[in-house]
Amino acid sequence: MAKKVLVTGGAGYIGSHTVVELIRAGYEPLILDDYRNSDPSVIQRLKQIIGKEPEHVVCDVCDQNKINEVFQTFDISGVIHFAAYKAVGESVENPLKYYSNNISGLNSILTVIKRNPQIPFVFSSSCTVYGEPSGIKEVDEKTERAIPTSPYGYTKWLGEQIIEDLFTSQGDLKMMSLRYFNPIGAHESGIIGELPVGKPNNLLPFITQTAAGLHNELTIFGNDYPTHDGTCIRDYIHVVDLAEAHVKAIDYLFAQQKGCNEIINIGTGKGTSVLDLVKTFERENNIKLNYAFGPRRSGDVIEIYANVDYALSLINWKAKKDIKDAVKDAWNWEKSIRHLK
Ligand code: UDP
Repeated sequence: MAKKVLVTGGAGYIGSHTVVELIRAGYEPLILDDYRNSDPSVIQRLKQIIGKEPEHVVCDVCDQNKINEVFQTFDISGVIHFAAYKAVGESVENPLKYYSNNISGLNSILTVIKRNPQIPFVFSSSCTVYGEPSGIKEVDEKTERAIPTSPYGYTKWLGEQIIEDLFTSQGDLKMMSLRYFNPIGAHESGIIGELPVGKPNNLLPFITQTAAGLHNELTIFGNDYPTHDGTCIRDYIHVVDLAEAHVKAIDYLFAQQKGCNEIINIGTGKGTSVLDLVKTFERENNIKLNYAFGPRRSGDVIEIYANVDYALSLINWKAKKDIKDAVKDAWNWEKSIRHLK
């Protein structure tokens, strides 16, 4: 029988793509979402891709009683925990919103996991835990974590710490944190993708929205950084590759006889500058993008990209797609939601 995997935040950007890949791999995802940061129409969109409506429950991940009830009602074999807020700027303006949601959501799920150590648990972490790497810009999992630069970053940093402390107290748990680099792109069908709430903070959604005419121009935050073209460098990972990494992570945990707590970088291993991404978008989609250079954005890391050796050796995962695929898929998705040709 197919194993049921609870996907908290399963209607969100990364969650919805992971639901598709879980089904492809023979799992039975159960979406848990209260749509506060996603759109319920995602369920019907997923149906278009996978041929049936995915099982879903409306629930606030912080509501411990309801979470307990969900675990009593469904025969859940594994958990992938996405549900969390993720806007860096908003977290600076409203830290309590981030601490209360991101930490209590994690806490309520882990409370159940603690009682059911046979249930593997995968956590969405972030490369934000590395801060600005000193010296080498390629970070591996042994690179020391830095003091986070935002409350959002702290919630990921603390999330990993909570998991580690829990594992220290109870070594039979099976847990894995995936440190995402910069997820971009959309499903190649153009049926699901990122649906930013309000004005996007992230680069590629801002690019596609500008190309679609929602903004006059993209501001590139800073062109005087010590990089090949003066703009910041990130490791942009296609969301479908990232979704597959979650499947490999849960596969790995299901196969473990003993407890474990692993942390893995999920990126491509390649650094791309803001200007490189803009030019790739223009070239691959044959579009001229309006952009201008503006001042640096405070708190931006200059350059970081992943060392991805551990992901390959531990869970046999590596990225298959590149930024060309991502900019085409992202534009295809933007056009489909804006009804553009
Ligand atoms: N960026 C930009 N203009 C925008 C949004 C982002 O120049 O409108 C730059 C940003 O300064 C950073 C890179 O794009 O150098 C990636 O930013 P994003 O917010 O997507 O990811 P993060 O900073 O969290 O890695």
